[in-house]
Amino acid sequence: MGNDGGSIPKRSELVSANKKPSARDEADRAQAQQEAFWKSCTLSKKTLEDPIVSCAFGRLYNKDAILQYLISPETYGDADELVPHISSLKDVVELEFTKAKNEEGKEAWICPVTRKEVKGAGGKFVYLSVCGHVFSDQAISNIEEKVCLECAAAYDSKMDVIVINPVKEADIGAAKERMKTLAEKGITHSGKAAKKSKKRKAAAVAEPAPAPSADVPEFATKIAAKLKEDGHLNKKSMSAAVKSLYRDKNDKDEGSNWISKGTFNRSVA
Ligand SMILES: [Zn+2]
Repeated sequence: MGNDGGSIPKRSELVSANKKPSARDEADRAQAQQEAFWKSCTLSKKTLEDPIVSCAFGRLYNKDAILQYLISPETYGDADELVPHISSLKDVVELEFTKAKNEEGKEAWICPVTRKEVKGAGGKFVYLSVCGHVFSDQAISNIEEKVCLECAAAYDSKMDVIVINPVKEADIGAAKERMKTLAEKGITHSGKAAKKSKKRKAAAVAEPAPAPSADVPEFATKIAAKLKEDGHLNKKSMSAAVKSLYRDKNDKDEGSNWISKGTFNRSVA
């Protein structure tokens, strides 16, 4: 062994602007993307908080964001792109995470069988659409009898095991196939009967965009846009005192005197 202390990059390697992203960069990006999907609601982009639901594509949402969307679809500007496949609560399943303290002493989701922490980096995790219990894929693959280890609900290993935030094309493809099969049978993601309607059938198989394999920048842009929007809302709702600092200079202001006006104008000029 020897000479394994890592190599020192040459200056040209560090400053080259046109350098193609390396496999390592790609892996880092993919990991950052996965972490974002595991931490924030796909619809509201807010931090995930119980109760958490998941759609047929294994994406995670805050239940309140989905409820808000179902009541007023216009709440989220990009909802048509993100959740064309959700038109009722039957299209999502509430997840049941097992919680425990992780190595850092923080509460974390774990697989109740392998005790592995359930997160973006760390393997493949699934839930059962019949009950919402979350496991590592490894644990589920090794179960002979197809009943949930947490609640004994019977499940079908082909139709009822949903990969959370799938990365592999095979898993994404399987989710699409499953949705088609369910739609043909008039069954929703949660296993409940769908209301009979042609429109619904079309919506049930509609593919959301961007898919979890979409670029990080697109996802990041959406989050940035959302933050900007929130900032805007905050400004609208700020107190009268703070608002007065932002007063338009054309506004008539009887309350302030020439001293404060002058000071404010100078400071922003
Ligand atoms: Zn269960």
